[in-house]
Amino acid sequence: MEENKVFYRDTWAEIDLDALYSNISQIREYLPKETNIFAAVKANAYGHGDIPTAKTVLAAGVHGLAVAFLDEALAIRDAGITAPILVLGATRAEDAGIAACKNISLTVFQLDWLQQAEKVIPTETSLRVHIKCDTGMGRIGITNEDELLKIDGFIRKSDRIIFEGIFTHFSTADQLNETYYNKQLSRFKYYLSCLETLPPYIHAANSAAALCHNDSLFNTVRIGIAMYGLTPSDEIKDILPFNRKEVFSLHTKIVHVKKLHAGEKVGYGADYCASEDEWIATLPIGYADGWIRKLRGFEVIADGEMVPIVGKICMDQTMIRLPRNMPVGTQVTLIGKQKELYISVDDVATKLETINYEVTCTITSRVPRVYKTRSM
Ligand SMILES: *Cc1c(COP(=O)(O)O)cnc(C)c1O
Repeated sequence: MEENKVFYRDTWAEIDLDALYSNISQIREYLPKETNIFAAVKANAYGHGDIPTAKTVLAAGVHGLAVAFLDEALAIRDAGITAPILVLGATRAEDAGIAACKNISLTVFQLDWLQQAEKVIPTETSLRVHIKCDTGMGRIGITNEDELLKIDGFIRKSDRIIFEGIFTHFSTADQLNETYYNKQLSRFKYYLSCLETLPPYIHAANSAAALCHNDSLFNTVRIGIAMYGLTPSDEIKDILPFNRKEVFSLHTKIVHVKKLHAGEKVGYGADYCASEDEWIATLPIGYADGWIRKLRGFEVIADGEMVPIVGKICMDQTMIRLPRNMPVGTQVTLIGKQKELYISVDDVATKLETINYEVTCTITSRVPRVYKTRSM
């Protein structure tokens, strides 16, 4: 289905499009039939590759795509994808014209933005907008009824702007305690009740809300992390109603192996010292690939064994200590499965004291993405 790019380095991220298809199909089946899914493919589909991800999830029945910035939406349009696309973040008013021409829906929450935008939308085109309501995230969105009604009134009078949707975003949907979630939900319902007519798309839920709080669905949901086979949080991982499979894995190959003697050093600062005769291998991946220095000491899988990273991680290379000599070209798995062993994205996130979202996003574009499907 996807053409893989030719590359000349032995480090790659493997993207399991069958797992992606299966994850989103199961989510599709779990949700009521009439619920529209917008798949979040912002940030290069959380590092998975936006175009192949978009094509796969659209084939699996999602209704549209959601991105953070207009540039991301335009790149998807340029790839020939005609599905609805919503930009979730703020866009400059002066760029409303290009969004209108490319049939890309924008998020709006300021009256003066709409007044400026209307002037740049070419005749014969119209801009579709979703009003964002801030119900407690404190990020973007209208914060009171007065702002909502002014915006609604302006859009209603405009013949260039189409009121396509209204939405909000939860800040605690991935927690079991529903107190704050319920506060946001009722605030959103109050905003809906202020409108004389509702737009076609009404949405609040991200993955966590859609899968764990079924009063959040309205008629549309925005699914990101769960379709990549990752859990929105540890707290709700056991109640996710589907059999998820991680889509992202990361691999490299040993490019050099040597025996170090006791007292010999490894890496910048010479701060790793062999305590006996040790086999040290070099991997062609480093912090410029997003394999950041904080991963020192983390274990990776070489020839079916867990082996530690030793010394400081360099910009382009990383050293590991092997239990024995291994040939150059031995595959090393940094994230994912090798033989019976498995390193999850969550394992890396734990080591980095962050969330799984950040791990796949952090692997830079220097690492080629290799797309795998059964049909290839
Ligand atoms: C990224 C994003 C989503 C998707 O969230 P997940 O937790 O990955 O499902 C939904 N809504 C908004 C506004 C977002 O920015």
